[in-house]
Amino acid sequence: MKHGEIKRNAEEILKELPSGVLLVAACKTRVPEEIEEAVAGGVGIVGENYVQEAVKAFETIGNRVKWHFIGHLQKNKVKKAVEIFDLIETVDSLALAEEIDKRAKAINKIMPILIEINSGREQQKFGVFPENAESLIIEIARLSNVKIMGLMTMGELGGSSRTLRNCFSETKKLFDLIKAKNIPNAGMKYLSMGMSDSYNIAIEEGANLIRIGTRIFGERKMR
Ligand SMILES: *Cc1c(COP(=O)(O)O)cnc(C)c1O
Repeated sequence: MKHGEIKRNAEEILKELPSGVLLVAACKTRVPEEIEEAVAGGVGIVGENYVQEAVKAFETIGNRVKWHFIGHLQKNKVKKAVEIFDLIETVDSLALAEEIDKRAKAINKIMPILIEINSGREQQKFGVFPENAESLIIEIARLSNVKIMGLMTMGELGGSSRTLRNCFSETKKLFDLIKAKNIPNAGMKYLSMGMSDSYNIAIEEGANLIRIGTRIFGERKMR
């Protein structure tokens, strides 16, 4: 990317977003200088898939932005993740939630989380199936040092627009259903869905957090 392009891309996306929709810049594989440029373009939330990358970026960027974890969180990275992140978007099991709860308790923090929904029902993918979400949420909501703030979904990998729209609308239905149940400690505030090629559909289907990488930073090089 040419100098200034990342900043311009971020500004352009932010300008077009309906009010109430928040942009998460998905920063995997990007160096702190690139993230810095997105921040200069108005990005206020940085999304990281890898705790180690986040630690590095955090050293330069710090608390000028909010930090969201959007990758698959391994148990041995939970301690560090709980220290750095403002929201962990990808909790999909009681075991992971319990580890987060334990680590958060140790540093006197209430850790905000989203529950990841496997709306594409893909066997190999992360996230809880929609039909199992409510019972998982009820269990996790009992933990004292996590705070459920909503749902996140990826949608079917490589799915068509129509498939993705179905994934998103099903997740929105679930979001509304859970919201209506008023489960203590399970507020449905954030619905995180949509990436570079699907965020317009996601917004139409009710997303209020979108996670964009490529459209801000350009194509990713393979790691
Ligand atoms: C990489 C990533 C994104 C952004 O993907 P792009 O297609 O580059 O916009 C969004 N969400 C998650 C969980 C990701 O890993």
